[in-house]
Amino acid sequence: MSQMRKDILTGSWVIMAETNTVRPSDFQFTRFLRETMFCPFCETNEAATPPEVFAIRNPGSSPNGPGWSVRVVSNSNPLLRIEGELGRRAEGFHDLMNGVGAHEIIVETPRHDRSLHELEVHELSDVIRAYVARIIDLEGDKRMRYVLIFKNHGEGAGAHTISHSISQLMALAVTPRSLKTKLMVARDYFALKERCIYCDVLQQELKGRRLIAENADFVAFAPFASRFPFEMGVFPKSHSSAFSRISPGQIENLARILRDVLQKLDHTLGGPPYNLSLQDRPFLRPRAGYWNTIEDDFHWHLQILPQIVRVTGFEWASWFFYNPVPPEIAAQCLSP
Ligand SMILES: [Zn+2]
Ligand SMILES: [Zn+2]
Repeated sequence: MSQMRKDILTGSWVIMAETNTVRPSDFQFTRFLRETMFCPFCETNEAATPPEVFAIRNPGSSPNGPGWSVRVVSNSNPLLRIEGELGRRAEGFHDLMNGVGAHEIIVETPRHDRSLHELEVHELSDVIRAYVARIIDLEGDKRMRYVLIFKNHGEGAGAHTISHSISQLMALAVTPRSLKTKLMVARDYFALKERCIYCDVLQQELKGRRLIAENADFVAFAPFASRFPFEMGVFPKSHSSAFSRISPGQIENLARILRDVLQKLDHTLGGPPYNLSLQDRPFLRPRAGYWNTIEDDFHWHLQILPQIVRVTGFEWASWFFYNPVPPEIAAQCLSP
């Protein structure tokens, strides 16, 4: 019989199939395919993008020219724009504001023929350093409350037009609802137990059947109530609410574990599309209404959601997910 599992971190329920075996061939998905048309993100094509807002460069190289390992530019077709006032206002009962924010592209490598999991540890460390630098810079913009960093790998995950390896960053004047839910669950647990809910979950998962990878600073596991087949979470072992406060040593270990789990995913399933996102705490603004235990009760993490099954009317209607691969089986496949 299938099971219904409650996600202790969000309060939502997932229907989990009953199965003991999974073959990658059970899933029909569009495998990652590299386009070879003109690409604005390749080294030497810097003039084809808006000017860079950040880059990690070789000594002696000039901005907006070649000689970089990571380059951050504004999205040339942004969903939100950095100029202007928020203009918070009402329209009857409804709340409204201007589309102010930031929408940036983090070009993870100058090479067109490398995906994130194919980068060396020092190259992936540079990508993480770029994330940190952009978050710290945008934290200084008092209009912004949240920075969301995410990645769409492969057409099935939303990367329709571009196959160069990039992440996207959106600075937002509001905290996303999904994060707010996590924050409130963590706050309530802390109020009851005076412990971080994530630290408690990690303790269990480090010993359990859902563990996928681990090093001195990080752990990766398949969450108990995974919504997607082969879903993975990557968490710092020591408590920290803010990703941008990561130490230099932790950056390298994060690069190591991320490379490891993304390679496992790629090899096990054969180039599946996936979405990766940073689940970070919001900026602590005086008027944002956040509580004073937020640094103790929230624990940043990465979420990796392979997109190998379709989300259907059932999920959209109920926000219940059906997962055909129990996380215990996923972990077994991913860490042979
Ligand atoms: Zn390219
Ligand atoms: Zn914690």
